[in-house]
Amino acid sequence: MTKDTIKHRFEERYSRQILFSGIGAEGQKRLAAGRVAVVGCGATGSAIASLLARAGVGTLRIIDRDYVEPSNLQRQSLFDESDAAESLPKAIAAAQKIATFNSEIITEARVDDVTPQNINVLLDNAHVILDGTDNYETRYLLNDYAVKNSIPWVYSAAVGSYGVTMNVLPGSTACLACIFPESPRGIVETCETSGILNTAVNVVASIAASETIKLLIGEPAITSLRKTLWSFDVWTNEHAEIAAERRRADCRACGERDFVHLAGEGRPHITMCGRNSVQIHERARPIDFAEMQRRLGSQGTVRHNEFVLKFWREPYEMTLFPDGRAIIKGTTDTGVARSLYARYVGS
Ligand SMILES: [Zn+2]
Repeated sequence: MTKDTIKHRFEERYSRQILFSGIGAEGQKRLAAGRVAVVGCGATGSAIASLLARAGVGTLRIIDRDYVEPSNLQRQSLFDESDAAESLPKAIAAAQKIATFNSEIITEARVDDVTPQNINVLLDNAHVILDGTDNYETRYLLNDYAVKNSIPWVYSAAVGSYGVTMNVLPGSTACLACIFPESPRGIVETCETSGILNTAVNVVASIAASETIKLLIGEPAITSLRKTLWSFDVWTNEHAEIAAERRRADCRACGERDFVHLAGEGRPHITMCGRNSVQIHERARPIDFAEMQRRLGSQGTVRHNEFVLKFWREPYEMTLFPDGRAIIKGTTDTGVARSLYARYVGS
C-alpha cells in the first residue's frame, strides 16, 4: 500500500471524528500516537477499550487476570458465547474481538494480575491508565503508581445502577487517596452482591473514554477535562459532583508521597469479586497443560486450550494459567484453596 493510500484510509475511517472540531486531523493523529493501559477488562474495561479502539487510539494494552464466563455476557461487551464456552482469558478474547473491528491499531493482551511486583512492567510506557478493575486494592495500587510516576489515570466504578468516575491528574488535581483515604463505603458492594446494570457501566465508560481522548489530544482539548468526582444513578436519576480540582496537602499519596500500596509485598490470596472463589498468586511455575491434563484425568473432569486449563472436582472448579496462577471456585477459604492447589498442581 502506498503512503497516500494509507493516509486516505485513515482519513476515511476516522472522518466523522476529524469533522468534530474538538478533535480534527491533528487530534486524530495524536490519538493514533496514544498509548493507553486498560487495567481489568470486565464490564467497564470492555466498554472503555471498545470505545477507544474504535476512536483510533494507536496502542491499547489490556490487562486482565480472569476468564470469560456466561454470566459476563450481559454487560461485558467485548465477549461472546464462544469465548465463554472456551473459558478464554478476557485479555485474549478482548484483543481478538478488537482486531475484528479495528485491525489497524495495536492491541496488547496481558493475562495477569497487576501487583506491586509487576506493575512497572505491565504499565510501562502508558500515557493514560484506565480503571476497569473491580476492587479498591488494585485501584489504590494504580493511584500510587500513577502519582509516583506522574501519569494521568481515570478512576471508574459501577455497581447496581450507579456509576462513578474521576480523572486523577498527578501534580494538579486530587488523587483517589485525597478523596477516599480509605476504601469508600457504599461502593464496596460488588457486582455479585448488588447486581449491575449494563447501562450504568456504559455511562461511566463513555465519560472515562471521552476524558481519555482529551488527555491524549492535549492542548487545547485538555482544558475541557472534568475536575470533579462525578456520579450518576441510572435508576433513581440521582446525580452528584464533588470538587476534586485541589489536592489535599496531607494526602498520604500525593502529599506525603508515601506509596504504601506500591511497596506492598507478599500480598495474601485474593478472594475475587464475591464470586465464591480464591486466586492463588503463583507465577513462577510454568505448567505443561498436556501433561497436567494426563495427570488430572483420573481425578475429575479436565480440559484445556492454549490459554487455560480447567479442572472440575465437585464442589470445586480450578482454572489454571500457564504461569501457574490459579483461580479456585467453590470456596472463599484461602486454606482450602491452597491445599487443593498443593494436591493437584504442586506445593
Ligand atoms: Zn492525593
